[in-house]
Amino acid sequence: MSFPSLFISHGSPMIALEPGPAREFLLGLGESLGRPRAILVMSAHFEMREACLTTDARPEMIYDFGGFPRPLYEMRYDAPGSPELAARAGALLTDAGFKAYRVENRGFDHGTWVPLKLMYPAADIPVVQLSVEPLKDGAHHLALGRALAPLRAEGVLIVGSGSLTHNLFAMTRGERNAPAPGWVTDFVDWVHARAEAGDAAALADWTRAPHAKENHPTPEHYLPLPFAAGAGGTGAKGRRLHHSIDRSVLAMDVYAFG
Ligand code: ZN
Repeated sequence: MSFPSLFISHGSPMIALEPGPAREFLLGLGESLGRPRAILVMSAHFEMREACLTTDARPEMIYDFGGFPRPLYEMRYDAPGSPELAARAGALLTDAGFKAYRVENRGFDHGTWVPLKLMYPAADIPVVQLSVEPLKDGAHHLALGRALAPLRAEGVLIVGSGSLTHNLFAMTRGERNAPAPGWVTDFVDWVHARAEAGDAAALADWTRAPHAKENHPTPEHYLPLPFAAGAGGTGAKGRRLHHSIDRSVLAMDVYAFG
């Protein structure tokens, strides 16, 4: 069984607690996709200078956020790791000419556990995390995805977990339910058109998109998108599985490629 690759907007960690359209969508997504053999997640919250893969057999939890309600710090996602998948992914990256490092004692950050807890709440599918490399560009992340695309035919679900738009300064000054401003919707629409056209090169060259810098003052929440597009395979068209906007400026879009 071959799975599409996914780009998931994980949004605020509050999605783990608060009702909302993106949460509702993710609650049904695992069942509609089916059960993969293992899951490989590039998380926006695992920022490194090179490609790093987690190798722990029993990953711990990381609560990498501040100022949220206590129940969020009591949540657990006790999925096993998969040293075997980490080794296989590392070999694919090395074969494609990348350096790939294996790291130990690196638990699940919220870019990984928040969406997976909604999608696969039983936490019984092995999960490996791959770092995002904010010092490298979209083309690099597209190429990383392409190198790992063969895993899909091996029953692995490949996920890029970020946020389609991610300006937290604008989020805190904005009104929660105000309509999304044009600088957000223009960017969202630009991505939608490029993804549906299968234009992975444009998604990788994303700093040319309208209001790119306003939507992503830093790139780490965008880069999992070209990664997911690459993992869908050459020429893969993106299908937008979900669209909603949280707190006026956080686009919660989810895409499937391949
Ligand atoms: Zn995040």
